[in-house]
Amino acid sequence: MIHGYWLKTLGIEGIYEKIPVEPGLAVDFLRSLESRGYVGCNVTLPHKEIACATVDVLDPLARALGAVNTVWVKDGTLHGANTDVAGFLANLDAGVSGWDRACETVLVIGAGGAARGIVHGLLSRGVARVLVANRTYEKAAVLAEACGEKVRAVEFSALHWLMREPDLIVNATSLGMIGQPPLYLPLDGLRESAVVTDAVYAPLMTPLLVEAAARGNRVVGGLGMLLHQAVTGFETWFGIRPSVTAELTRLIEADVEAAYPRGR
Ligand code: NAP
Repeated sequence: MIHGYWLKTLGIEGIYEKIPVEPGLAVDFLRSLESRGYVGCNVTLPHKEIACATVDVLDPLARALGAVNTVWVKDGTLHGANTDVAGFLANLDAGVSGWDRACETVLVIGAGGAARGIVHGLLSRGVARVLVANRTYEKAAVLAEACGEKVRAVEFSALHWLMREPDLIVNATSLGMIGQPPLYLPLDGLRESAVVTDAVYAPLMTPLLVEAAARGNRVVGGLGMLLHQAVTGFETWFGIRPSVTAELTRLIEADVEAAYPRGR
């Protein structure tokens, strides 16, 4: 719907479609993109690592993350990039302008692929300290170790005592998504100035965001991350940088609402 909207409003002839590809066939699929008539593709789980190992030219961020979500063909060569990080940052910028001006400490919940990109993005904006909490503590510890001294793994059981510290909380787990249990955080001690954001976008307002907003904290939903990560792919494939307009946002929000009425 996102790319279809831009193709239509920018008057470009083209199509963006969903193709299921078995993991064992992913390399062949990517290698045959051009002969199938595609200028490129997005890649989602579980193909992000395979795409990273398959493309001929890798952007530095995708290399650092070991994950590619956007592929394009240029002069017969396969290029790969990761646009999730730019999407995460652009969404926060749009939701809370200047959030990074006085952002000392960020608490990231989760240590999967999304969390890895988000931590990279936060460090690129000069955040002084990132605390990572994850159900599987060892994965948080591995992520922290790989990201340097500004990043520290913390136990979930310690969050109650740490809640006064973050200027920003990011949910980078799948908790709160439709069909998943909510993410429960001890928000009691959270400062009123802190911002809370979620990578989950279905529902548009996760239980975590509803609770944070009710306390008076500023919140940013995950849908904008999805919309903004798409901008670079479209620009790479079609040569025009599209905009995340209010109309596009309303369109996709309505689609999510229709698919999951009242968070069901
Ligand atoms: P992933 O690599 O599979 O990681 C999943 C994370 O969620 C892990 O930290 C995992 O903890 C945690 N988790 C899953 N079930 C849990 C449970 N029942 N209790 C506690 N923790 C649980 O997935 P991902 O790619 O990082 O994606 C994470 C979320 O971000 C998904 O909801 C995805 O849709 C969303 N996302 C959104 C965008 C966007 O554009 N808005 C982009 C990317 C991802 P363990 O390590 O302990 O398993």
